[in-house]
Amino acid sequence: MKPEAGDRSVSPPPWEGGWFGAARRCASPNFGPRPEGARIDLIVIHSISLPPGVYGGPEVEQLFTNQLDWDAHPYFQQIRGMEVSAHFFIRRDGELVQFVDADARAWHAGSSCWRGRSNCNDDSIGIELEGLEGDSFTSAQYDGLTRLCAGLGVRYPIAYVAGHEHIAPGRKQDPGSGFDWTRLQQSLGWAHACFPGDTPPNTNVAA
Ligand SMILES: [Zn+2]
Repeated sequence: MKPEAGDRSVSPPPWEGGWFGAARRCASPNFGPRPEGARIDLIVIHSISLPPGVYGGPEVEQLFTNQLDWDAHPYFQQIRGMEVSAHFFIRRDGELVQFVDADARAWHAGSSCWRGRSNCNDDSIGIELEGLEGDSFTSAQYDGLTRLCAGLGVRYPIAYVAGHEHIAPGRKQDPGSGFDWTRLQQSLGWAHACFPGDTPPNTNVAA
């Protein structure tokens, strides 16, 4: 599970507990404990922008810290009162922000199932990319995502990477068709089996 040595490859920055050294901290109150014995082996990739398609503003950080002004834009009526979070947010310029200690349970997945286990918030890491379903993502975001996933792979027994659209099919569409899974797989050098096309999805595989 070690990342492939590439020209941009550097030693992952150290962790302070579940806080990633390379991330700017923006602590969210929206989190809780993971179930005892949770095996944190899944990274869930999302996309978000507020208002949708508008990049670079403070609204996503405001949403995840319960400080968004619901009356500031008509779209915000649709999400009024939501208390959500992700562990990480990667902006278009590659800046990495961390909201929740990765040892703790963030609120990003909702009703979900992957690799035969439901309630993916219990045992996953949520990473939001600033973006929009169908839009592409920046090279700076892929670079930052690669470094973050490599760092997560050092601290946690990561075995799977999936999109919100994969763990909540029909309900969620992010990160969407503009996300290049092959690019992430190749930059990490992780096995194909870690990625959506090769993972048994939503049915319980015990049968
Ligand atoms: Zn999502």
